[in-house]
Amino acid sequence: MKIKLILKSILVIVLIAAMIPYGFSQDKNLKNIVILATGGTIAGFAESGTQAGYTSGQVGIQTMIDAVPGIKKLANITGEQIANVGSQDMSVEVWLKLANRINELLATDDVDGIVITHGTDTQEETAYFLNLVVKSDKPVVTTGSMRPSTAVSAEGPLNLYNAVAVAANPKSKGHGVMIVMNDQIHSAQAVTKTNTTSVETFKSPMQGLMGAVIYGQLEFYRTPHGLHTYESEFSVKGVKELPRVDIIYGGVDMPADLIDLSIKAGAKGIVIAGVGNGNMNAASLAASKKAAANGIVVVRSTRVPTGYVLRNAECNDDEYNTIASDELNAQKSRVLLMLCLLKDRSLDDIQKIFYTY
Ligand code: ASP
Repeated sequence: MKIKLILKSILVIVLIAAMIPYGFSQDKNLKNIVILATGGTIAGFAESGTQAGYTSGQVGIQTMIDAVPGIKKLANITGEQIANVGSQDMSVEVWLKLANRINELLATDDVDGIVITHGTDTQEETAYFLNLVVKSDKPVVTTGSMRPSTAVSAEGPLNLYNAVAVAANPKSKGHGVMIVMNDQIHSAQAVTKTNTTSVETFKSPMQGLMGAVIYGQLEFYRTPHGLHTYESEFSVKGVKELPRVDIIYGGVDMPADLIDLSIKAGAKGIVIAGVGNGNMNAASLAASKKAAANGIVVVRSTRVPTGYVLRNAECNDDEYNTIASDELNAQKSRVLLMLCLLKDRSLDDIQKIFYTY
């Protein structure tokens, strides 16, 4: 009799567990969204609401969700804490953990979209990385804030609300990874941080906004440029680390020995944040040529905020065996090159990849 009762109880528990996958309290009319928290200013804390100093990555995901009125009417929401760091401390280790978890969640019918809370400093890199390695057309949105959760007029709660609204909207499918902040929807491929403190920091200077979201109501103006997510050839399945790629910043009398030092320290690729159209001085060009001859891939990007880096324009890439970054800034060129170097690829193939993603 007792055993029957125990078995019955176990059966009821198993059934309930099966009805609440990933901890969703199910409303059949709503989409299931998982929020993966990584820290940042959106989870930041300060002693007063008006001080400039604060510590990133202090508040847990449940507290952040509870701080957003009405968010549970947008979707069935569940949260997971993947990390809790300022995004200056974001790492390849966390990227791989995030990518694998997202791919695992989106492969099931129980999850309709993902929101990632993230510091703004390196958010464009994480978003672009995920844009290249997530294997799904379901919406993936990153968000954050410029003001800590304790600030007067903290904008994190509305950003999180809008991010969930975008992730839960069927219109968002197939748009690759998006950054949603300040009522705007940006494509991970096009977006960059442009201001150190303003809430209007994310811009897509070459392509413009992908869409807008006002208190959860959204509109898309365009689709993303370049291949992404389910169309991408890149995968980090089983990958434990990414090859080292360094960025070297150009300027007057640019020290060419930084290129040699980088290679000595283990870099397999180098991105030059060059002057103008991805230019560098003669000494650095010579060091690049030598690096390329030794199998190191050198990408010419630029320190200029807008514009293309054109192949064989002022610099003869054919002669120096360098790659032109096209539209990608130095930090995104670094992400793409790290993924390119997971496999043996010719310089021609890598150049094509820079035109395609
Ligand atoms: N340093 C912070 C971070 O990236 C800045 C922010 O989130 O706005 O985590």
